[in-house]
Amino acid sequence: MNAELDLALERRIGKRSAAVIEKHLGITTVEGLLSYFPRRYLTRGELTPISELPLDEEVTLIARVLSSSTRSMQARRGTITDVIVSDDDGQQGLRLVGGRDFRGKVPGTLKISFFNGYKAKAELLQGRRALFSGKVSSFKGQLGLTNPDFLILDDDPFGQGSGDPEKLAAMPIPVYPATAKLPSWKIQQVIAALLETVDLGSLPDPVPAGVAAREAFLPLADAYRLIHAPQSATDWKRARDRFRYQEALVLQSALARRRAQLAAEEATARRPAEDGILSAFDSNLPFTLTAGQAAIGKTLAAELARDTPMNRLLQGEVGSGKTIVALRAMLQVVDAGGQAALLAPTEVLAAQHYDSIRRTLGRLSADGLLGGLAGSAGPSVQVTLLTGSMPTAARKQAMLDAASGTAGIIIGTHALLSDNVSFYDLGLIVVDEQHRFGVEQRDALRAKARKPPHLLVMTATPIPRTVAMTVFGDLETSTLDELPQGRAPITTHLVGLAENPAWAARIWARAREEIDAGHQVYVVCPKIGTDDDGDFTPGEAEPPGLDADDTARESASVTAVVEHLLGEPSMSGVPLAPLHGRQDPDLKTDTMAGFTANRIKLLVSTTVIEVGVDVHNATLMVILDADRFGISQLHQLRGRVGRGGLPGTCLLVTALEPGHPSRRRLEAVAATTDGFVLSQEDLKLRREGDILGASQSGGRSTLKLLRVLDHEDVIARAREDAQGVVRDDPFLSSHPELADAIDKYLNPEKEAFLERG
Ligand code: ADP
Ligand code: MG
Repeated sequence: MNAELDLALERRIGKRSAAVIEKHLGITTVEGLLSYFPRRYLTRGELTPISELPLDEEVTLIARVLSSSTRSMQARRGTITDVIVSDDDGQQGLRLVGGRDFRGKVPGTLKISFFNGYKAKAELLQGRRALFSGKVSSFKGQLGLTNPDFLILDDDPFGQGSGDPEKLAAMPIPVYPATAKLPSWKIQQVIAALLETVDLGSLPDPVPAGVAAREAFLPLADAYRLIHAPQSATDWKRARDRFRYQEALVLQSALARRRAQLAAEEATARRPAEDGILSAFDSNLPFTLTAGQAAIGKTLAAELARDTPMNRLLQGEVGSGKTIVALRAMLQVVDAGGQAALLAPTEVLAAQHYDSIRRTLGRLSADGLLGGLAGSAGPSVQVTLLTGSMPTAARKQAMLDAASGTAGIIIGTHALLSDNVSFYDLGLIVVDEQHRFGVEQRDALRAKARKPPHLLVMTATPIPRTVAMTVFGDLETSTLDELPQGRAPITTHLVGLAENPAWAARIWARAREEIDAGHQVYVVCPKIGTDDDGDFTPGEAEPPGLDADDTARESASVTAVVEHLLGEPSMSGVPLAPLHGRQDPDLKTDTMAGFTANRIKLLVSTTVIEVGVDVHNATLMVILDADRFGISQLHQLRGRVGRGGLPGTCLLVTALEPGHPSRRRLEAVAATTDGFVLSQEDLKLRREGDILGASQSGGRSTLKLLRVLDHEDVIARAREDAQGVVRDDPFLSSHPELADAIDKYLNPEKEAFLERG
């Protein structure tokens, strides 16, 4: 803990400023405000390109006044002052138009309206340059701002113009993430005051001296000064480099420390049994394991047999067969007398895992009382489902089975994490689709075991290396990089109804051809009925880039599509059925069985089929309003066809206009079946916050300067440094500043989890 950093802001900048900062930015400490870094920098002498300004976000820009006019309002008393400002393009445009009293639309201009804008009228005179801050909107093609804050730059408001005009023109103006009520330059002024009063020299530096020297970093105090009040672009770049590395180092050290702590724990060894369920399972496998499955299986078997906990991430392309790998690990643990829990992100996925694992186990799966009878034929394991929506009696029974040890494999959702769920002897936790779980949730489950259990995390989307190092930095990684044999290529087409409305009918004709050839078809809709939000799984309910426009648009629903298809001429006589998460479980089971047995030819469903469903005869997947889904979800979905050696086709149907930002996702999915490329693309299209959102990084902490895709080398260097530091000094006792920074980075509750780890 450092006194200066933790000091209440008002002690350094006064009560009034501190109150404003707390109200608008929620920041209360010296450190909070010092680390409120500019998002970017404007150059004093340059005008901001207006065409590049995002709409409907708080922006700060520099522009020059072209003209100003004031008129009285007709309906009520008062005046409107319209100020036209421009960037360099706009200046040129004006010259072309030639008009002094210009009112029309010229690219690079912005129309700013002030109601009763006496100050604007007096100060925003033609030719003056000013900073403006507000939300840019667009009205009939003219970009505009209403009642924005502004600051005339020609007056040298920051008092930096000590003579040299050229130097002044090159001087960067920091742009802070501003709010409607607090423009960037007011934040800048408060921070300037803070820099005057704070004892920068006393601030603890988490970066070890050796590393700082190697990297030729600015001293910490200088870095704080220059990131907020740079004299030149070089200044802020050097300062930013240091803070970026520092951020990476703190994060990687937290992960390295966690790895070290986990490795030092004692777990129960779960050794393979001679004639257990696993060997029975293996000898009945209808296929041979791929080389990758076999190799990773060996690794897992060895790690489970050790008395330190396994902490492993299993990555693999959709359909690469991760479930079998996980199931074999679970069986080894059950053979050794322990229990295994499989944690899925949604009820639907949990139920699917439950069904498919029992199906895969066949007679090795014992069902309650019946299991006792079947058990006489050989070893078996009870598989139990435990989710929040189960009827109370069934849930109680499931909890009892978990607590008594009757259940060997327990499959469930977050419900497994609740306090009243306990296990007899939890030996292995498997987490599926990890990108929706955080460190805290893994830990909550770990805490339910008497000794730290083994952990296997499965993720379907291959993750870029830096994300793996960052989000899953506490786990060792295995990758399944080949698909089982018999997988045929999938061709994906983007079907744009906006440019080609006739294709709507062509889709069903295409489906009919497939069915006439003896194959089956999936149709996926974003919604169940006309007034619900579908079976979206949390975390992907709102695909990145979805704007208000999109949300207003009605999207295809299972009910409406089924109704349409019943009257669609090319579908006459085709047995089809709906499937979605809100149906009665028996109906769902019947429908799936009908589809698996090829009685039902066309299935209209929500994303319930995303995972687990495996019908080899299905060759066509039609995804309606595909723009409603995220990249990884689309990729998962189409993995359901092309499974039985028959080539698969996937049609991504969208009503969005060509060029709409959300169509980029679809183009990306159509362009490649390489999950790795897609996950890179996904990251690029997502906003940064989504990548390491609370649920993924496991804490409230978000990255400030570090971008996982852009700063791979920084992350890699920091990781190596962190490993070195932690190896030599696991408790960081000779690096108290780093240890403190880690504690601060993780929130207090989270730190408690880590300690317990
Ligand atoms: P994912 O990695 O996407 O979770 P799954 O585990 O669901 O993949 O496996 C997809 C399908 O492939 C399942 O039907 C599974 O039974 C089958 N499968 C798994 N391993 C093999 C293999 N070695 N050979 C043939 N089919 C396999
Ligand atoms: Mg899977």
